[in-house]
Amino acid sequence: MTYPRIILNKGKEFSLLRRHPWVFSGAIAKKDNNLQDGDLVEVFSNKQEFLGIGYYAGGSIAVRLISFEPTTIDEEFWFKKISKAHEYRKQLAILNDQTNVCRLFFGEGDGVPGLILDYYDGHVVMQAHSWGVYLQKDNIANAVKRVLGADLKSLYDKSAETLSKHFSGKTENSFLLGSGGEITVKENGNLFKVDYVNGQKTGFFIDQRENRAWLGDYCKDKTVLNTFSYTGGFSVYAAKAGAKLVHSVDVSAPAIELCKQNIELNHCANHEGYAVDTFDFLKDKKDVYDVIVLDPPAFAKSRDSKHNAVIGYKRLNVMAMKLIKKGGIIFTFSCSGVVDKFLFYNTITAAALEAGRDIKVLHYLNQPPDHPVTPFFAEGEYLKGMVLWVE
Ligand code: SAH
Repeated sequence: MTYPRIILNKGKEFSLLRRHPWVFSGAIAKKDNNLQDGDLVEVFSNKQEFLGIGYYAGGSIAVRLISFEPTTIDEEFWFKKISKAHEYRKQLAILNDQTNVCRLFFGEGDGVPGLILDYYDGHVVMQAHSWGVYLQKDNIANAVKRVLGADLKSLYDKSAETLSKHFSGKTENSFLLGSGGEITVKENGNLFKVDYVNGQKTGFFIDQRENRAWLGDYCKDKTVLNTFSYTGGFSVYAAKAGAKLVHSVDVSAPAIELCKQNIELNHCANHEGYAVDTFDFLKDKKDVYDVIVLDPPAFAKSRDSKHNAVIGYKRLNVMAMKLIKKGGIIFTFSCSGVVDKFLFYNTITAAALEAGRDIKVLHYLNQPPDHPVTPFFAEGEYLKGMVLWVE
């Protein structure tokens, strides 16, 4: 099948030839004036060489490529894409007898910008971040059914929250198959209640699975503070690893409620949850904690807010470094895509200087393989963290 053509300016094909899937509006020489947001298009170089197929959007990223080969975008196309993502995770045994939750499809990392599929023990939550992906919803749903077969218990479309304001009003979150909402999943043998209908994002922050396991190694007999705890992912691992006391802090009361339930579900004690602002909570807590987790929400969602985000990360880390006990451990993260790892590391350096504490970097942390990063799309590496030892 053929789609309307977009012709690029001279020399603008190189990033696509390097398999970076975005076409910026300034790279376009010619396009059909009737193109609508979400339309499928074929992209050609100025010399009329085929480069790929993508979906059009009116913004500064004008096209996002979903295929570098000529093809027809139908159910079969989606079946192949989602099968490939599923096979990759199977090969890495990400789902196993200890873990039944993972990201099944991660946007560009799996070859389709704007598509997220999260798997919760057979319940799949879909989030389309672009209208072009959303328009393919039925094909995607059929493909997911074919890939997972009898393993699929429900499929929930939660795109109203991820589409831009202009489009989110045109859709409502709904079940495309089955029903559900509140379930219990297992991650590295730990149990978590997940409310994927009412919870944040798709219900659980699956991207911290490996980092939570690392945290356990530092928590035996320690006093641990988990800030921005959400439903207690890090808290449960700390408590199960034998922490003396775990404090969870999140501004969301429902998150703290679920956090407490998750602690109980895992038969842990010595935990207290606080539904308050982290910055307020930290003010008077000097020399209480041996281990502190700092996992704030993305302080920067766009380039414009990068500077303020850096100030926010610095302020938070200065506070934690000043109050932690001698020889304490800080797990510090940023999930802002626009704050790259070098900027984040420099921010941590600046924080240590301001706090007047010597630090050592024990580990660099990142996102797990079910949130794959390809060298063709460095922007996909959004989660970065460090384990710090504070003198
Ligand atoms: N570490 C968590 C995920 C954190 S997501 C996990 O492993 O599951 C970020 C969390 O920060 C959200 O739950 C949000 O409610 C919370 N949050 C945002 N601003 C906050 C603030 N100022 N103080 C405390 N919590 C905040």
